[in-house]
Amino acid sequence: MTVKTRFAPSPTGYLHVGGARTALYSWLYAKSQGGEFVLRIEDTDLERNSQEAVDAIMEGMEWLGLEWNEGPYFQTQRFDRYNEMVDRLLAEDKAYKCYASKELLDEVRAEQEANKEMARYDANHPKIKAVNEAAKDGDPCVIRFRNPTEGSVVFDDQIRGRIEISNSQMDDLIIRRTDGSPTYNFCVVVDDWDMEITHVIRGEDHINNTPRQINIYEALGAPVPTFAHCAMILGDDGAKLSKRHGAVSVMQYRDMGYLPTALNNYLVRLGWSHGDQEIFSREEMIEFFTLNAISKSASAFNTDKLLWLNNHYIKTSEPEYVAKHLQWHLDQQGINKDNGPAITEVITLVGERCNTLVELAEQIRYFYEDFAEFEAGAAKKHLRGVAKEPLEAALAKVEAIQEWTTENLHQMIADVCAELEIGMGKIGMPLRVAVTGGGQSPSVDAVMQLIGQERCVARIKMALAFIAEREANA
Ligand code: GLU
Repeated sequence: MTVKTRFAPSPTGYLHVGGARTALYSWLYAKSQGGEFVLRIEDTDLERNSQEAVDAIMEGMEWLGLEWNEGPYFQTQRFDRYNEMVDRLLAEDKAYKCYASKELLDEVRAEQEANKEMARYDANHPKIKAVNEAAKDGDPCVIRFRNPTEGSVVFDDQIRGRIEISNSQMDDLIIRRTDGSPTYNFCVVVDDWDMEITHVIRGEDHINNTPRQINIYEALGAPVPTFAHCAMILGDDGAKLSKRHGAVSVMQYRDMGYLPTALNNYLVRLGWSHGDQEIFSREEMIEFFTLNAISKSASAFNTDKLLWLNNHYIKTSEPEYVAKHLQWHLDQQGINKDNGPAITEVITLVGERCNTLVELAEQIRYFYEDFAEFEAGAAKKHLRGVAKEPLEAALAKVEAIQEWTTENLHQMIADVCAELEIGMGKIGMPLRVAVTGGGQSPSVDAVMQLIGQERCVARIKMALAFIAEREANA
């Protein structure tokens, strides 16, 4: 049997990192088994759902590279099918009409609480029975599923182990409301059955639904899938991860300059492990992923680790890949990569110094744009009178360089040092500030090579003018 998993978000907002991890696990499990992955949008809550949220979820999934083989299916387009199945259960007496009003149910509940009984719907309560017997066809009613009264539901959760719930703990679930709309737990079962889902991987917050859903599968004569319920993700203070802890939307991570590979790697390790390995290529994740290595306990989100992974991926990924994701940030920061050296070469040179793509974009502006001013602190320290002679010497040599290579630039700096009998520091830093505008950059010869000769000449002249003006004002 082909393994088939699904991700079934309710479109109430953006794709949350918790949802993304569930989606990733479902996707990975399908891939690891040579199976298929379905996207289903659980959009029956018309008041809380929106098209923007559907778009945001799909955007997040696409950005993470969690492509689906089927779907997206929309529950709102399947009402006829759910109703057909409700009618079938009714006809088979596995479901029944219940006419009890909300007031009556509240009254019964209050009575049960007063008697210290478990508050639950009880079809055999004399008052409820009386109402149901007196009702006429056409009176407003809900449809309830006839939950078995004896025995228990047992399932082997792939993460949490064997779970057993007595049927006496469950009441007769409403499967169709008075307004004719089918309810959530019922739709999920019909969907998972129709979509031939073999493994339901979802958040632990759904674990209480599972025994109820299993009873419905059985009533429908549908095969019961295998279940795996993932523990929660916590913030650094131990509370369930929420907006209060900072970014929770996947696309916010894009905005903050993370690579999807880094976020995927981070999410896969957040509650799953394979020995002590930390870095996983996509192929390795697929190869090693198993459900039973997912942790039962909640995991805490750790931004420092995510930053470390992001730096790793910026440093080690193909520069073309980094460039593809950097483009969005260049656009955000108004940097035109056509006005300078090949972006891939700049990434190779500067990438390893950056933890995020936002930082990377910020740090490479000088390759693509001239600046009107030097960074105040760096200029104060390094563009002083003593730098005049070394910079003049460098300028003459830079103008004369025939072949604009890093080696020749390296030699140029060595020659300035030798001629003026100065140490490297006396020319290296002033030159860096002159050509980059600031005090921090990779090796200055490599930086100059990429900036280009014409720009370097102009910038050294600008630095000399700055020094002259400073001296004049002193
Ligand atoms: N729609 C549910 C949610 O967004 C998921 C239900 C399921 O996976 O069965 O939490």
